[in-house]
Amino acid sequence: MKERDCKIIQDLLPNYIEKLTNEETNKFIEEHLKTCEECKKIYNNMKKDLNVDNKIKEKKKVKFLKKYRNKLRILEIIILIIVVAFVVNTGRKMYIITDLNNKAQEYVNSTNYHRTSYSLDNGNYNKLEVFSLGDKKKLILTTMTEDGEKEVVTTYGTKIGTVPDTPYAKTYPPLEKYKQNIYKVTDTEKTAMLDVEVGMSVDNQEAFWGIENTKDLIMTAITSSINKTTFNGNECYYVSGTPAILPNASMYVNKDTGLLISTMASEYENPDGERGRIAGTEYEYEFGTVTEEDFIEPDISEYTIVEQ
Ligand SMILES: [Zn+2]
Repeated sequence: MKERDCKIIQDLLPNYIEKLTNEETNKFIEEHLKTCEECKKIYNNMKKDLNVDNKIKEKKKVKFLKKYRNKLRILEIIILIIVVAFVVNTGRKMYIITDLNNKAQEYVNSTNYHRTSYSLDNGNYNKLEVFSLGDKKKLILTTMTEDGEKEVVTTYGTKIGTVPDTPYAKTYPPLEKYKQNIYKVTDTEKTAMLDVEVGMSVDNQEAFWGIENTKDLIMTAITSSINKTTFNGNECYYVSGTPAILPNASMYVNKDTGLLISTMASEYENPDGERGRIAGTEYEYEFGTVTEEDFIEPDISEYTIVEQ
């Protein structure tokens, strides 16, 4: 009888230690343990073993949690670093763009400048010189074709107003209205058109003229890449990815003046959805060098007058 009891008790002991047995069973086990040395010994040993087992399990659990927590912390740190780097880099670009824009204003507001630009477009070499003196503008456009044909169109204009409803005025600098005398010299003839009224926009000297508000500034800073470099010996920034200005444009901007030094050829789409291409262009500037002498027109008697 006792032997049978012992077997049952020993069977129940693991569950008893884990507190899975009911009250009545507990009483029965406890009564038995009081009187049976053999079972008591087994009970004590089993309890010890289970405790050790649980401790190991607990330790493993803590170790795993620690490891997991460490991994989580590393991930948090990595994300934080990425976010901070992004914010710092965007801030840096916003600062550079704003700084260059401010520097360029001095020249944008200048009424006495001489700007020369060079481009190669579909095999044609173009050189455009703009002379600005107050309300007067002289443009010299020299075109040389692949076949060596040369054409020089010189325009003497005086500003007589602005064009009220400039298309795309939000994107491009507003057009000004000029009254012009246009002189064209080719290899074979000299012609002139007098008193022509045209809308012109020639004053977009700064690089970032498309950025009109903080939203444009932030968007441009996020999407653009701006790197320090040199171009023709000038310290400058190489800027690309500026959708507020030209979607596919990249350009060199003078670090000290904020002026465009060079733009790469780019494609664009105007608000009407028409696609176009702008040739790569290089720019040179002089300020304060234009005089009235630059506006002395050629001897009209050498030219054939053509009607518009
Ligand atoms: Zn027993």
